[in-house]
Amino acid sequence: MTAGTATSDLVKIARDLASNSLAPRAERTDAEAIWPADSLRDIAAAGLFGLHVPKRLGGHGLGLLALAEVAEELGVGCSSTAMCYAMHCVATAVIAAKATPDQEQRYLEPIAQGRHLTTLALSEPGTGAHFYLPRVTFRGGDGGYVVGGEKSFVTNGGHADSYVMSAVAEGEEFDPGTFTCLLLDRDAPGLVWAPPWSGFGMRGNSSRGATLNDVGLPSGNRLGVEGDQIWYVFEVVAPYFLTAMSGVYLGVARAALDLAVQHLGARSHTHTGQRLVDNPVLADQVADMWRMIERSRALMRHAATLGDQGSAEAPPALFAAKIEIAETATQVTNLAMSLLGGRGYQQNGAMGRLMRDAQASHVMSPTTHLLKNWLGRTVLGQSIF
Ligand SMILES: Cc1cc2nc3c(=O)[nH]c(=O)nc-3n(C[C@H](O)[C@H](O)[C@H](O)COP(=O)(O)OP(=O)(O)OC[C@H]3O[C@@H](n4cnc5c(N)ncnc54)[C@H](O)[C@@H]3O)c2cc1C
Repeated sequence: MTAGTATSDLVKIARDLASNSLAPRAERTDAEAIWPADSLRDIAAAGLFGLHVPKRLGGHGLGLLALAEVAEELGVGCSSTAMCYAMHCVATAVIAAKATPDQEQRYLEPIAQGRHLTTLALSEPGTGAHFYLPRVTFRGGDGGYVVGGEKSFVTNGGHADSYVMSAVAEGEEFDPGTFTCLLLDRDAPGLVWAPPWSGFGMRGNSSRGATLNDVGLPSGNRLGVEGDQIWYVFEVVAPYFLTAMSGVYLGVARAALDLAVQHLGARSHTHTGQRLVDNPVLADQVADMWRMIERSRALMRHAATLGDQGSAEAPPALFAAKIEIAETATQVTNLAMSLLGGRGYQQNGAMGRLMRDAQASHVMSPTTHLLKNWLGRTVLGQSIF
């Protein structure tokens, strides 16, 4: 895979990986809550790790629209794997936004070569869904930092090579969005992982908590300069995070529609000899599912395009896209489960997994509650905080 590959070619690669690598492993990933090392290795080998790494460093130099499309394709194959990859992409975009030459060499070049997995560690037990209010603190400066506190729900936790982490200077007041991004390397002394993740869904994510016991970091592991923090939150973290999640959960909805279509085509009753595919009531429900998916995708791509253009209209569109897709994912998986009948319900199989995975779309922050509030306030001309 050469640097600077076009989005359409990367989307095709993602589609093939979803069918041939991710989907065959999805059931075991879920059942045994296995972090999907093999599928992520295949994604890296196919050249997708460097989606947001600049071309001059060996990456593809792409933005939000490419992330939306690639994440959707992978999400059709395995939601957990797609989310692990999507969080790597968000963290990569944060590193790439203002990387120093040293950070380019230590992080971005190995990412482009598929040798380094990174991820995002923002959420904390104390502030919950309000990920923009970290309480992990750092002290120090040019001689290096000492970091302490707790993170929660770190996807790829314990497996990634680096963690893009938010922290505030010791003694700083609660002030939305004023955190500093620091890079934490996997073997940092003082980094202690919580027990393995065993979620209701997204069971392959390894979304674990971590305690930072006075972890020492070199000063070169700070991203950007003092005063950049709000710029990071609104220009990089939020747009990439929202787009990554939108793509993955749209993939979940598509996978559910595919299962329903397959079932209606295959199931027939002995008393009529007719297949369910010929039933007009059930066809109406398939139409509803298709409409929800198509309109969500159109909104997601519109929002991602506005974001790539740096448009002032991008934030409300990105908020709306994630809300819309979370509702689509939960409604489509519900409808699909009813179309699979008792047979679908009987097994905790592929449809059950998709239903459980879809539920995380509302609670992964910015949650649906927060986003509706932010969207309404934006439309009303108010600050979101
Ligand atoms: C599968 C999974 C993967 C994740 N991966 C990551 C990751 O990689 N990195 C990361 O940083 N985080 C990650 N998270 C964390 C996620 O983004 C949220 O921070 C977390 O789910 C919040 O959980 P909580 O129980 O603390 O929620 P709480 O804050 O306790 O919220 C509970 C409910 O109340 C609602 N609520 C809270 N405050 C308000 C308010 N002011 N107005 C309206 N409603 C409100 C919320 O929407 C939510 O529905 C992940 C979470 C999950 C489930």
